[in-house]
Amino acid sequence: MRTILIVGGGVSGTLVAAGLLRATHPLHIVVVEPRPTLGRGLAYSTRCCAHLMNVPAGKLSLVEEQPNHFVEWLRENFYSWATDYSFVPRSVYGRYVGDFFAVRRRAARPDVDLQHVRLEVIRMERKAAGYRAYLSDGSSLSADAVVLATGNPPPSDEVIPEGPFRRSGRYFPSAWHPGALECVNQHGAVLLLGSGLTAIDAAVSLEESGHRGVIHLVSRHGLLPRAHPRRRPANALGFGLRPAPLRQLVAQVRREAARTGTGGWYHVMDALRADTPRLWQRLTTEDQRRFLRHVRVYWDVHRHRMAPDVASMIARMTEQGRVQVHAGRIQQVHLGPAGLEVEVRPRGRPSPKCLSVDRLINCTAPESDYRKLKHPLWTSLFASRLIDAGPLGMGLKTTEQGELVSPDGRVLAGLFTLGPPRLG
Ligand SMILES: Cc1cc2nc3c(=O)[nH]c(=O)nc-3n(C[C@H](O)[C@H](O)[C@H](O)COP(=O)(O)OP(=O)(O)OC[C@H]3O[C@@H](n4cnc5c(N)ncnc54)[C@H](O)[C@@H]3O)c2cc1C
Repeated sequence: MRTILIVGGGVSGTLVAAGLLRATHPLHIVVVEPRPTLGRGLAYSTRCCAHLMNVPAGKLSLVEEQPNHFVEWLRENFYSWATDYSFVPRSVYGRYVGDFFAVRRRAARPDVDLQHVRLEVIRMERKAAGYRAYLSDGSSLSADAVVLATGNPPPSDEVIPEGPFRRSGRYFPSAWHPGALECVNQHGAVLLLGSGLTAIDAAVSLEESGHRGVIHLVSRHGLLPRAHPRRRPANALGFGLRPAPLRQLVAQVRREAARTGTGGWYHVMDALRADTPRLWQRLTTEDQRRFLRHVRVYWDVHRHRMAPDVASMIARMTEQGRVQVHAGRIQQVHLGPAGLEVEVRPRGRPSPKCLSVDRLINCTAPESDYRKLKHPLWTSLFASRLIDAGPLGMGLKTTEQGELVSPDGRVLAGLFTLGPPRLG
């Protein structure tokens, strides 16, 4: 019997498992995932009901031939009023993924079995036939093939200055770090480094937990994600792009957004969704670099949008002066008797300003350079030359099918990845 090991049981790993459960031959599937429930991962484990999906329900079906599958499931199980333009809590989507997986598991043949091991994989080796994975309790297991479905790495802390404040209990290296969003001094100011969806999530959690102090969001450009419109926009246009130099693509997108008038950019961004990987892969390396340097920040805020209710909450907190967005960089952080003194250099201005805060939480994007990750699984995979960094150092190098490619260009039989590691 073949054994397939899936490392990580978030949405990516669980859907791979759900696919394998349809095997028509004997198969042993092992999912190594420390969380108690499969299908939730980081995004859908949240218990905060104000953490909403940032995609409307009509685009979230897990059944390709039934685009309304999620909406129908919602109507049967949670909200009879759900429409394909409902933005539902992320925890509800986690339940949907779990239900979908459970149905597949029940329908599997008796000789196709699945085991959930609640541990972490900390090292992996290639063997004559297949792979050997070493787990966090000291045990190990062998597999014929491995799928790395490990999700987003934590953010880099290179953007945070060094100093004793890092060990003061007032600095949190990520919003998901234990305690980062708990036991906050109710009226104390909080500084969130970053102003993307993670910072928005953190601000929403703080509000929901009763925090009433000021929340500073500091990022290089000081741009917040745009909001989905409250009412469903009219049908998408037949807009599409063919691979072309970056300058030309940007001009076409801007022209189309202007032509379609107020709110027309929603359609333009949505229409690009399916083409994005192909457009990106056909850019020259120089254009890809240019995109990352100059365009990405604008792309991100238009592409990854806030659900309408989340946007209203943030707008209200901004009006009350409780959310304050700053464009700039953190220069220094001093540990004072009552908290942290953070020196921020505003964008385009030479003199810094000082923000006194109770705690500082790193809400910047996940580290995209896997060579910098300190988790032993990644250090061991790089050290044994089983994996290589992806294009421009982002994610991992893979084939179109997600097979990992070693530094000497070999496609490794039976070693795959999907989701965030394929960012590049
Ligand atoms: C906070 C947040 C909110 C998001 N909201 C949305 C949204 O509203 N809409 C949307 O479309 N997308 C959203 N996303 C994007 C989201 O990343 C993807 O939709 C999807 O959840 C990614 O799934 P994944 O399984 O690849 O990763 P993850 O969900 O991160 O799962 C990876 C799993 O791997 C496990 N793991 C990691 N390393 C190991 C190891 N060494 N051994 C064993 N297990 C390991 C982790 O415990 C984790 O459970 C959000 C992402 C985040 C982080």
